[in-house]
Amino acid sequence: MKRTVVQGDITKCAVDAIVNAANSSLLGGGGVDGAIHRAAGPDLLAECRTLNGCPTGDAKLTNGYRLPARYVIHTVGPVWRGGNSREPELLARCYRRVLEIATEHRLTTVAFPNISTGVYGYPKDKACAIALKTVQEFGQQGDTPVQEVQFVCFDDENYRLYQQGLSENS
Ligand code: ADP
Repeated sequence: MKRTVVQGDITKCAVDAIVNAANSSLLGGGGVDGAIHRAAGPDLLAECRTLNGCPTGDAKLTNGYRLPARYVIHTVGPVWRGGNSREPELLARCYRRVLEIATEHRLTTVAFPNISTGVYGYPKDKACAIALKTVQEFGQQGDTPVQEVQFVCFDDENYRLYQQGLSENS
């Protein structure tokens, strides 16, 4: 499984699925969630309303509607509470659950935003290390049709961290 880093807006990514850093209601919010709903159009919210929310660390798939991506996989990252509230485990679980769902749906390309590193306050360096490691381990573990995982970085700090992290461990 190839891991790549790109800087930019995830709503522009023409991949099989983009990942949304949603909140547990799945009814929209700010940050990347707001951008995805704006770009996908109102049908996305209508489908999300049928899903009855999503627990932290889990993920659910919808169509992509007006997005160039065919699907959106909505996941709910942990709010950073200092690091002793199972945040690392829950963040890793988000990346794994998304890749499990992508595998079930036979998807080939998946683009992740930097989950939890916006308003949820997860330290970017720690979140980056977990994202890279969890995706790498998933790729090594077994059979998956997922060939490419893109880490889509919106801000310069995340972009630098992911470039550095991938160059050190690839
Ligand atoms: P969370 O609540 O999980 O912290 P946020 O949306 O606040 O979610 O932030 C998650 C990450 O998404 C942040 O690193 C933020 O810079 C990034 N982000 C915001 N808008 C976009 C976008 N359009 N495309 C990709 N990443 C984005």
